[in-house]
Amino acid sequence: MTSEDNFSEELEAHLTRNGFIWGPEPEIYDSLAGFYTYGPMGKLLKNKLEDKMSRVFKQEKFYEVEAPIIMPEEVWDASGHLETFVDPMVLCSECEGSYRADKLIEEDYDVVADGFSDEELLEFIDDQDITCPSCGGEFEQDIHDYNLMMETRVAGRESYSRPETATTTYLPFKRYWRFFRKKLPIKVFQIGKAFRNEISPRQHVLRGREFTQAEGQIFVTEEMKHDWDGYDRIRDEEVRLWSAEEQEKEGSPVTMSLEEAVDSGEVTSEGYAWSLYLAWELFRSVGIPEDRMRFREHQEDEKAHYAEDAWDLEVELDSFGWTECCGVHDRGDYDLSQHTEHSPEDLSFKDNHGKEVMPHILEIAFGTDRPTFALLDIFFDEEEERLQIPTHVAPVDVAVFPLVTKDGLPDIAEEVYRQLHERRFDVEYDDSGSIGKRYARQDAKGTALCVTVDYDTKEDDTVTLRERDTSDQVRLNIEDLDGAVQTYLYGDAELRELGEPVE
Ligand SMILES: [Zn+2]
Repeated sequence: MTSEDNFSEELEAHLTRNGFIWGPEPEIYDSLAGFYTYGPMGKLLKNKLEDKMSRVFKQEKFYEVEAPIIMPEEVWDASGHLETFVDPMVLCSECEGSYRADKLIEEDYDVVADGFSDEELLEFIDDQDITCPSCGGEFEQDIHDYNLMMETRVAGRESYSRPETATTTYLPFKRYWRFFRKKLPIKVFQIGKAFRNEISPRQHVLRGREFTQAEGQIFVTEEMKHDWDGYDRIRDEEVRLWSAEEQEKEGSPVTMSLEEAVDSGEVTSEGYAWSLYLAWELFRSVGIPEDRMRFREHQEDEKAHYAEDAWDLEVELDSFGWTECCGVHDRGDYDLSQHTEHSPEDLSFKDNHGKEVMPHILEIAFGTDRPTFALLDIFFDEEEERLQIPTHVAPVDVAVFPLVTKDGLPDIAEEVYRQLHERRFDVEYDDSGSIGKRYARQDAKGTALCVTVDYDTKEDDTVTLRERDTSDQVRLNIEDLDGAVQTYLYGDAELRELGEPVE
């Protein structure tokens, strides 16, 4: 595990300067750790990721829903969050600073402390002489249970902001049941804000107190998981799996097909294997390189007691090493059973034979802050100060420049800007500074293409199209611009196929 120190000041400064991520906010007051603003470029990038990801979900026939962020206490009592959504906290005996014990260990030592008991945490801190990161003082010999949910009162009722979207997605099960005409599997997803009152938020937007979650939930029967509709399509897909057993003996992840994973018993069911595939595809679709992805199986002591299978998709970041970015869980019938027990509603249904069935839930749980950060981290070229983000998710698709701000060139450039904008590209207009400066500015933001309107444009309606990574340029007709940009970003076309090369 890499330590926090690899998060370079250069990257952070670059993200701030170029309008990606600002904070922690409020910057002009005394800032509160774990809260960030996505500036104009950051928001464009994050939107693009969320859009791609919802397209992947929809392609797999999921429907999007939006549930409330705040729910009353009884919901969190039933879900188990009140009791178990706690982090182990240690206090510094000198400065009274509070730290999350397991993360304190994991950041400096190559261990997974997530599943450590309180005794094991204290023992490790003691054995390794871990001291307070801010003052060097010793920690108190006590682990405090610290609940991560943010409390509020609504109409006199104790309530909490959701710490994940999941629970709020499960609750309307009866409504889904009727809407989806009493037929499983039911596939829904949510992308929305969730809140965790982290003890010590660190690692920039990776562990914020407010973040955007994206979760897909599939309601199924036990039998369906073992005879999965759509399994044939994905059985040959390969993923990298790092099983609990391999981790135990310090082995490496193994690349295997999902069919091999099911047949060897590495994963428990076809439906679960399909969920792994979906997680892999979600991250691949936004441009995370496959050689930086792996699934890590939960160790027995990390796994929730009801979980039938649990693996995390991890992404290798330059700043923080292998980082958990998505959890894929077979939650069994835990959730709907809990809400059936605690609410007046029975969430089971009767099958064709009149048998009562409590649906199981397969879940792909992630957020959009981490993959957004991952793209910025992985594709930042520090030397050239540019972002080589895959062009299909570049924050700005195309920038438009008039060569000079006179002789009618701005009017034509404005027209080109509008034309591209109408075709739903993310476009930026820039008319200040030399063309070289403008190119550099766009490279820093990761803009895929730049269009320059010059004096020749007035004569023959052609413009220059320049690509980011090679700085190569071609000349083409304004009429063909939309199509060219489209095929460049989303097809396989190379720049030189789109016009006359410019020497
Ligand atoms: Zn201290």
